Amino acid sequence: MPEAQAAQNHDPAAQGRNLDEYRGVWVFLEVDRGAIARVSLELLGAARRLADALGTQVSGVLLGHGTGHLADGAFAYGADQVYVFDAPIYADYRTEPYMDAFVHLAREKKPEIILLGATTTGRDLASAVATELLTGLTADCTELDIDKDKRLLLATRPALGGNIMATIVCDQHRPQMATVRPRVLPMPAPDPNRRGQVVHLDYVSSPSTAITEVLKVVRDSGEDVNLEEAPVIVAGGRGMGNAKNFELLRELADVLGGEVGASRSVVDAGWISAAHQVGQTGLTVRPKVYFAVGISGAIQHVAGMQGSDIIVAINKDPQAPIFKIATYGIVGDALQVVPALTRAFRAALGKGTAEEPAASTAVSSAAPASAATAQSTPAAQEGGK
Ligand SMILES: Cc1cc2nc3c(=O)[nH]c(=O)nc-3n(C[C@H](O)[C@H](O)[C@H](O)COP(=O)(O)OP(=O)(O)OC[C@H]3O[C@@H](n4cnc5c(N)ncnc54)[C@H](O)[C@@H]3O)c2cc1C
Repeated sequence: MPEAQAAQNHDPAAQGRNLDEYRGVWVFLEVDRGAIARVSLELLGAARRLADALGTQVSGVLLGHGTGHLADGAFAYGADQVYVFDAPIYADYRTEPYMDAFVHLAREKKPEIILLGATTTGRDLASAVATELLTGLTADCTELDIDKDKRLLLATRPALGGNIMATIVCDQHRPQMATVRPRVLPMPAPDPNRRGQVVHLDYVSSPSTAITEVLKVVRDSGEDVNLEEAPVIVAGGRGMGNAKNFELLRELADVLGGEVGASRSVVDAGWISAAHQVGQTGLTVRPKVYFAVGISGAIQHVAGMQGSDIIVAINKDPQAPIFKIATYGIVGDALQVVPALTRAFRAALGKGTAEEPAASTAVSSAAPASAATAQSTPAAQEGGK
C-alpha cells in the first residue's frame, strides 16, 4: 500500500468522518449449508425498518463461489439490491478475503449502517471490517432502533456483566456497525412480490490476502438438541434441586413435543450440557411457550428468552423476578407442579393411560392451593408480558 494511502487509512480524520457522504443500510448475507442464514433474513427485516425511517435503501452483500443465485431470496425479506462477489477465493469463509472484499465495497459505496449476524463468521468479519474502516462496532445487540433526525443507529445490548442494557451510538464515524444474535429479532413476513436488483461485482481479492487455507470443513455433530427451533421449551434452574430431577422436565417436554432448556447455574453445576443453556452466554430462543421452572429470572437468563410468545414461570418464591416477565405464574414446588402438569397435559392431549388421573385431579392433588397457586402476573394483567 502506498505510504500516503496507508497514512490516510489510519487517520480517523480522513476516513469515515464526513458523515453526510454515507447512505444506505447493508446486511451481510451469510450462507449456511447452501442457503441464506436465518439471522441474515431477520436482519433484513430490521434493516428495512431502519432504512424506511431514514428514507434510504437496503442492500445485501453476498460472498461465495456459485452462490450468486441465492441473492434473489433476499428481496422478499426487504432488500432493494444485493451485491454479489462470486469467485473461488470466497468459496469458504476466511477472514482476510472476505474482509478485503467487504472493505473494498464499503469504501466505494459508503453505507451508513452495516448489520451482521452475531454468528462465529459474522462476529469475526464484523470486527475485522470495523477495524479496517476505523469505525465503531456494537456487538451482540438485542435491539436496533434509529434516531432519524441525527441518523444515528441506536444499538442496545447488555453491558456491565449483563446488569444493565446500554444503548450505544457511533456518532463520529461511519459506517455504524452492529452484530445481532440469531432469533433476537423477529423473522419478517416474506413478500414474494418484492423485486430488487442483483449487482454482480468483478472485484476478486488477491490470493495474497488469503493467508489461511481451508483443508476440510467438519461440522460439529454436537448434541442433538434443537432449542432454537423448538415450539415449546421446558427450562430448569437451580430450583430443580439436582440433575436427576431434570427427568421431570424431560417428561413434560416430551408430552408437549418440546425440548429441555436450562439456566447457566445448572450448566455450570454439570446437571446438563451447555447445548441446553438459554441466555446471554447461551442461546436466544423464541418458542411459542417457555416454561421457566425453578429459575429466578436473572437479567442474563431473561435476555435469552423474553421474546417467547408465552412464558410460564414456576417458582416457590412469589417475589422471584421471573414473575415480572411471565405471562402466567405458578407459585409452588417445582417437584410437585411439573409432574402434575405433565399428567394434566397428557390427559388433555389424549396421551394419557388408564392409570393416569384426569387433568384437574392431577393439578389439584399435586398442587394444593397452599403449595401451588396460579397467579396472574402484573404483566399479564396489563395485557402484555
Ligand atoms: C456475564 C454473565 C453471563 C451470564 N449468562 C447467563 C446465561 O446465559 N444464562 C443464564 O441462565 N444465566 C447466566 N448468568 C447467570 C445469572 O446471573 C444467574 O446466576 C443464573 O441465571 C441463575 O440461575 P437460576 O435461576 O437457575 O438459579 P438461582 O438464581 O439460584 O434461582 C433458583 C430459583 O429457584 C427457585 N426455587 C428453589 N427451589 C424451588 C422449588 N423446589 N420449586 C420451585 N422453585 C424453586 C428459587 O426461588 C429461585 O428463584 C450469567 C451471569 C453473568 C455474570
